[in-house]
Formats: sequence, structure tokens, C-alpha cells
Amino acid sequence: MRLVFLGPPGAGKGTQAKILCGRYGIPQISTGDILRESKAQGKLAPELVTLMESGGLLPDDALIALIDGRTKQDDCRRGFLLDGFPRTIPQAEALDAMLERRGEPLDGVIAPEVPLTLLIERATLRRTDKRTGQIYHLSYKPPPPDAILEVRPDDQEEVVRKRLATYAESTAQLLPFYERTTRLVKVDGVGSVDEVTERIEKAWQARKEQAAHNA
Ligand code: ADP
Ligand code: AMP
Repeated sequence: MRLVFLGPPGAGKGTQAKILCGRYGIPQISTGDILRESKAQGKLAPELVTLMESGGLLPDDALIALIDGRTKQDDCRRGFLLDGFPRTIPQAEALDAMLERRGEPLDGVIAPEVPLTLLIERATLRRTDKRTGQIYHLSYKPPPPDAILEVRPDDQEEVVRKRLATYAESTAQLLPFYERTTRLVKVDGVGSVDEVTERIEKAWQARKEQAAHNA
């Protein structure tokens, strides 16, 4: 199962990816998490850290090479879920080309849809447990008292707005890109985390049945 989660910041991609990857036994590959980890280890060039923390996108070539290498690792043999990649048309084209070369095409793209005001509220009140990577929300998913909370530098409201603008300019073009090739599965992302998980699983199941019917 090779899937992509496509959506704006705050749509719930990371939250849902962790649940589904746990259920299906496939790795969640979050480019944002990988980049934050590189930064924490002092391995991300300072100009890329600045770009990332100001809400811009990092160069396509670097991200494509990262995903090419990561998806060849052993734990991806049964599939993977990409969270935060692709974000541009060149990244999406490169992903198709690399997976086609391997004879392992993408099975689908799940796109949770959430209105703008909720996206801002979700991102600005997001907190992450430094030790476990668990994602919390100060109103909707309050952290336990022993959590060691981190605030992402790019979750300040100004930067969230910039990231949403970056999404609208570059990443939203991927919706028609994947719709044309019938791989897009849109899901209402408003509701409790459990409700959204259930919607994704139902929509994904329906898509697989449709694909089997058409084959
Ligand atoms: P993304 O990876 O798309 O940026 P996250 O999964 O990190 O989004 O979620 C953003 C914030 O919204 C987090 O604080 C998370 O706890 C919260 N959140 C995620 N899904 C829901 C939901 N269905 N209802 C309310 N809050 C949610
Ligand atoms: P995320 O955790 O997915 O919100 O990503 C955090 C930040 O990492 C983004 O705002 C970008 O600066 C950078 N980033 C993550 N994935 C990509 C990507 N596929 N292409 C370019 N930049 C990325």
C-alpha cells in the first residue's frame, strides 16, 4: 500500500497518518519530521532552517533525493504513507517516475479538507511531545501532565498564514494533478479524530472496490 496524504498545514495529516500506519503496519514518512530531526542534529544547512521556519518550501531536488532514498529502505517493502511529500508538481512527477521505474506505482492520495479558520486554530495550538513525537492540541487533544511539550517555530500565527499561502500557491495544484489520474480521495477533515479516521478508511475501501470493479 503506497499512499500520499495531501493537505494544508493543520489538516490532520500527521495525526491520521500515525493511526493508519499503526493499523496497516507501514511506515509514516513525514518530510517535515525528517527535516526537523536533521535540524535538531545540526545537519540542516542554516539557510534551509531559515527557509523552513519562515514557511517556505525547501528545494525540490533535495526533497526528491530524500524520498527516493527513504522509500528504498527495507521497512517500505510492504508500502508506506507519505505525509508532506509531494508539495509541488515537480516533486509529484518525480515521485511517479521513481515508483514507475520500480514497478510499484502509487495506490492513492488521501486529501483531508478543512476550512481555513480551523486550520489556523489547529496549527497555532498544536503541541508535540518531544520524547514520543505524539501530536496534541491545547483545546482538542490536551496533552497529559507529564508530556514534554514543544511548539514548532513555524506554528506562530504569522508563519502559519505564510505556510497556508505557500500551500495555495504550490501544493494545491496537486489536487487537479491527482484528480486527472483518478488517484485522489477527498475526505471531510472536520470532526473528531476518530470520525475522520473512519471516513478515511471508508472512502479508501470504496475506492479500492471501485478500482477492482473497473479492472
Ligand atoms: P498536519 O500534519 O496536517 O499539519 P496535524 O495532524 O499535526 O496536522 O494536526 C494539527 C493540529 O490539529 C494538532 O494539534 C492536532 O492535535 C489537531 N487535530 C488533528 N486532527 C484533528 C481533529 N479531527 N479535530 C481536532 N483537532 C485535530
Ligand atoms: P510539515 O511538517 O509537513 O508541515 O513541514 C514543515 C516544513 O518543512 C514545511 O513548511 C517546509 O518548509 C518543509 N518541507 C516539508 N516537506 C517539504 C517538501 N515536500 N518540499 C519542500 N519543503 C518541505
